[in-house]
Amino acid sequence: MYSVTKRINFCYGHRLLDYDGMCKHPHGHNAIVEIEVRTEVLDRRNMVIDFSDIKRHIKEWIDRELDHRMILRHDDPLVKVLQALGEPVYLLDSNPTVERIARLVFDVSREQGLPVDRVTMWETPSSWATYSG
Ligand SMILES: [Zn+2]
Repeated sequence: MYSVTKRINFCYGHRLLDYDGMCKHPHGHNAIVEIEVRTEVLDRRNMVIDFSDIKRHIKEWIDRELDHRMILRHDDPLVKVLQALGEPVYLLDSNPTVERIARLVFDVSREQGLPVDRVTMWETPSSWATYSG
């Protein structure tokens, strides 16, 4: 198998509800997300996929939807407050853990036609999560 990986950096804020730890308070991360695409056969350019295709598919979406936003559970009381102030939020159906955000990036990549095999997302340099479908 061949695989290529594109690394994308972005910043986000979040907090976890129904959770007893530091992450119940609003805080931010400098995230790194790695998009891995695999194939058995290379295309006519001798590529798994052009890195610029990964960038076009998913980096632009991350920049537009997640970068410098608060990612919150839909029923978080902070949502109404931030929206009233005109602050950008991205809402999830469940707690915005690094695992859940990795899955979000995976699902959006697939929806956009990117044959992604695995998404790994670093919340800190020593903590990361992987989702592979
Ligand atoms: Zn956090």
